[in-house]
Amino acid sequence: MMVELHFGLLVIATLFVSLLAGSLLNVVIHRLPVMIGRAEESGNSLGDVERFDLWAPRSRCPNCREQIPVAYLVPVLSWMALRGRCRSCAWSIPVRYPLVELGAAVLAFASLVQFGFALASVPVVLCLWLLLALAITDLESGLLPDGLTYPLLWTGLLSSVLISGSSPYVSPQSAILGAVFGYLAFRLLYEAFRILLRRESMGFGDFKLASGIGAWVGIDLLLPTIIMASFMGLCVGLVLVAVRRYSRTEGMPFAPYLSLAAATAILFGDGLSNVSSSFQAIMASTLLGG
Ligand SMILES: [Zn+2]
Repeated sequence: MMVELHFGLLVIATLFVSLLAGSLLNVVIHRLPVMIGRAEESGNSLGDVERFDLWAPRSRCPNCREQIPVAYLVPVLSWMALRGRCRSCAWSIPVRYPLVELGAAVLAFASLVQFGFALASVPVVLCLWLLLALAITDLESGLLPDGLTYPLLWTGLLSSVLISGSSPYVSPQSAILGAVFGYLAFRLLYEAFRILLRRESMGFGDFKLASGIGAWVGIDLLLPTIIMASFMGLCVGLVLVAVRRYSRTEGMPFAPYLSLAAATAILFGDGLSNVSSSFQAIMASTLLGG
């Protein structure tokens, strides 16, 4: 009875914290690119510009600048209560807001169910939240801020040292090699594209993201993760070309696929390495005529 009660409380606490985290992720997704833009504009001059960071000013409607009352900052429920419209100007609030909040909760529960309701599962939840923020930020602004890619890398390396040995955490050796080769793979691809096709295929944020993902999935799952991401990107790209939503001249963000593939590899890594080793076995036996 007591155990059930404790478990129930734990589930409610997790839901509460992860919805709040999702709400914070929405702030990060909206504000980090604006902060980067402002920093580039103003250079080093510290004029009397209004303070704008993750903590100030209070949340406002992007359309009418009306401050949002605290009562309407409740994740998901506010959006539903307002039927997705700003209270004062009826501007339609992007469905991204409740989706990110729900997404944060789903990712938290997925990893706690997979790896246990334990303190050791907290870093992997943080990792999945960072991947979610990176994917959406890249989709919306085409940016992968250092403020998100570096924490991904550092938490990956640090948890490999502090909690290695239990899934999904890889050994420090695997994490370091994953981080280095993740960066190198994308950097080399970029340089090859630049020299051969004279095209900027991706940005430096992509290298850092790949490095952070390498630190999390480890060297063994790095290649399967990149292949999975490319496959997802290819499928979506073909669909978009087919419905003419996308012309081949414009670039396509790769980070959403890379983040999704990495989240899959982290959550279901054991299954993925089984698939990848049986695939290798099938290939080997086919090649050897067995
Ligand atoms: Zn408004």
